[in-house]
Amino acid sequence: MTAPTGRVRPLFGETEIAARVDRIARDVAGRGGDDLFMVAILKGSFVFTADLMRALHRAGARPRVDFMQISSYGAGMESSGRVGVIRDLADPVEGRDVLLVDDILDSGRTLSFARDRLLQAGARRVRLCVLLSKRVRRARRIEADFFGFRCSDEFLVGYGLDHANLYRELPFIGVLDGPPPEGGGSASAPR
Ligand code: 5GP
Ligand code: MG
Repeated sequence: MTAPTGRVRPLFGETEIAARVDRIARDVAGRGGDDLFMVAILKGSFVFTADLMRALHRAGARPRVDFMQISSYGAGMESSGRVGVIRDLADPVEGRDVLLVDDILDSGRTLSFARDRLLQAGARRVRLCVLLSKRVRRARRIEADFFGFRCSDEFLVGYGLDHANLYRELPFIGVLDGPPPEGGGSASAPR
C-alpha cells in the first residue's frame, strides 16, 4: 500500500495542544463531578483522551474511562449522516456523571447520537468535551461544554485524527492539503 501524497500544513503545535488540554482538565475538574466517567469515541479521540486523562489527574480528578466506537459513514472526507455503533461500552453508565470525549465536533451527529444513547442507558449527566470545534455545518443543535480550539472547515489530521487511518501518529494537528491518497477514504471507514 502506498503512502498518501497529501501534505500536512501544521495548524496547532504540540506545546499549544498540551497547554489547551491542561486548561480543559482544570475546567472539568473545577466544575465538579467526583465520579467522573470518561467515554471516549474511537478512534479519533484516543490520543486526546490519554493526554486529557493524565491532565485530569494533575488537576486532582480520579476519572474512569471506557470507549465506544462509532462510525459515520461517508465517502472520503465527508460524513453522510448515518451513524452506527461498531463497538459498545464495556461498563455500565447508569447513574454516572459522563464526560463524553471526541476529537472534532462537526455536524454534531456523532455526539448527539452518543449522548442520546448514554442518557437512554441511564447516565445521570452527560457533558461534551471536544478538542476541536468546527464553526460550520451543525446538523444537530449541540455545542460542547468544553473544547480546545475552534477551527474552520478544513480537513484536519494528526494527534489521533486520520485520513484513511493514516496520520494519527503526528504529534501536532494540521490541515491535509493536496489530493486524497490513492485507494484512501473508503466509503465506510469508521472516522
Ligand atoms: P460529526 O458527526 O460531528 O459530523 O463528525 C464528527 C466526526 O467526524 C469526528 O468524530 C471525526 O472523527 C470526523 N471528522 C470531522 N471533521 C474531521 C476532520 O477535519 N478530520 C478528521 N480526520 N476527521 C473529522
Ligand atoms: Mg471520530
